[in-house]
Amino acid sequence: MMDTQLILTGFLKRAERYFPNKQIISRTSPTITHRIAFKDYVKRTRRLADALKNIGMTRGTKVGTFGWNHHRHLEAYFAIPCSGAILHTINIRLAPEHIVYIINHAEDEILLIDEDLFPLVEPALAHLKSVKHIIIMGDSLGVPTSSFPNVHNYEQLLQEADENFEFPEDIDEYSQAGMCYTSATTGMPKGVVYTHRSIVLHSIALGLAESFALKENDVALPVVPMFHVNAWGLPFAAINYGANLVLPGPMFTPALLLDLIEQEKVTLAAGVPTIWLGVLAEQERQARDLSSLRQIISGGSASPKGLIQAFIEKLGVPYVNAYGMTETSPLVSMSHPTSEMDNYSADELLDLRVTQGLTSSLIETEVVNENGPVPNDGQTMGELRIRGPWIASEYYKDERTVDSFRDGWLYTGDIAVLTKEGYIKITDRTKDLIKSGGEWISSVDLENALMSHPAVFEAAVIAVPHPKWQERPLACVVLKENAHAGKDELIAHLENDFAKWSLPDDVVFLKEIPKTSVGKFLKAKLREDLKDYEVPL
Ligand code: ADP
Repeated sequence: MMDTQLILTGFLKRAERYFPNKQIISRTSPTITHRIAFKDYVKRTRRLADALKNIGMTRGTKVGTFGWNHHRHLEAYFAIPCSGAILHTINIRLAPEHIVYIINHAEDEILLIDEDLFPLVEPALAHLKSVKHIIIMGDSLGVPTSSFPNVHNYEQLLQEADENFEFPEDIDEYSQAGMCYTSATTGMPKGVVYTHRSIVLHSIALGLAESFALKENDVALPVVPMFHVNAWGLPFAAINYGANLVLPGPMFTPALLLDLIEQEKVTLAAGVPTIWLGVLAEQERQARDLSSLRQIISGGSASPKGLIQAFIEKLGVPYVNAYGMTETSPLVSMSHPTSEMDNYSADELLDLRVTQGLTSSLIETEVVNENGPVPNDGQTMGELRIRGPWIASEYYKDERTVDSFRDGWLYTGDIAVLTKEGYIKITDRTKDLIKSGGEWISSVDLENALMSHPAVFEAAVIAVPHPKWQERPLACVVLKENAHAGKDELIAHLENDFAKWSLPDDVVFLKEIPKTSVGKFLKAKLREDLKDYEVPL
């Protein structure tokens, strides 16, 4: 067979040739919506590549982006890798010292920064070692005043560039195309490098019926930020498959998302569970027409059962749990039921939908403990390990590689069991497991059960030190507005489903659960905040 290269340029050519009139709907503010046909998008992307070349981008140059989800960011997604350079998407919500660290560590030479985000980067500029040019992305033609010498305006640069720019054809599929750093709850973020090959294969996988089933007649809304694992790969895949792409810009409020879904007739939307919790509450407050939605994809952290149930039963929208990591591009598995489950009751099906599901084609997973792979018994816990063509094999220039990559596998640090059907069910991250008197207690199961109580908005369960049992579970609960429930009622709510020894020793009520930059529960912070807490003996 031929050895043609799996490179992203092929996606652009397909978009131009077969889907010239498909649309990118991009919001750069609540009042400004850009509608760009794919044929014009590709021209702008060629212009951007030419403009970047004109200021010194060559093969291997790292170009950082610091932006929301919008069409300019999408132009960078292709202009940079298709030129043989490397797209480094920077998480805008990282702490300032982490931002400085990753730009220096990646050795970014050019930065593309959203106009409204420039003030976040400005204080860091003096500490950046490799950056030579900054390009401001925005609707205006100006640039902010700054002591940094080379600050350009994106649209201005594009105007002066060539829309017929030709991308090189001799890019090796194994060459670096992009990079993203993990959001790091402890220590400095770790860099993951994606290759053309890994992105192409991952994008194709998003079109499989067993995964997102993305296709030409879809209208895809990645709510997950473009600075977080390439918005789960949706932008790349949508260009290849010719799906309309809705990019919501800086305003991620539930109301705005619901308006967009209704107006643009979105068929597929992807985001973390906290987004969908907010969307559900807003939809209950003011209902929009969601009949266009064929699927909500939720990932990044566990979805509470009640949330999945509410989407399916109250809103009539299929809600599918997807599992992955920055290191895995990210798609590893999804919780679609198979036809073998046609005779399952609604409850049994819901139990499967909460899991992380079946592993994607081309990816291998195993759950292993000291005795080897665990059986499909829904009980024996082990660490999930993964391998495959879009799974990282190392961290970028980082000694911590040895901790996670061994024997050809990525060790995820996620503790899981396998259901009898072989579905992966994550019970915890290694560092969040509660080890009580030699037994492991899953915080995720307790959280899910707590969040199924009608008064509970969010719940996180953490380990607190205990003189006799080493650790005991403590529930941290945020109640819904105007809702009431006390400790005894919440513990009683759990009693039927959990052994007595695994119930939380206490419940603390909080105004909010601290979250990571991408909206996951930040349990390290909760543990820190509650470190002086003493469990009632
Ligand atoms: P970071 O590691 O930077 O927080 P990632 O997005 O790479 O960001 O996080 C990956 C982790 O998120 C996984 O190891 C797992 O613990 C968790 N995760 C991802 N998807 C799911 C899911 N569907 N259910 C439960 N946990 C998930």
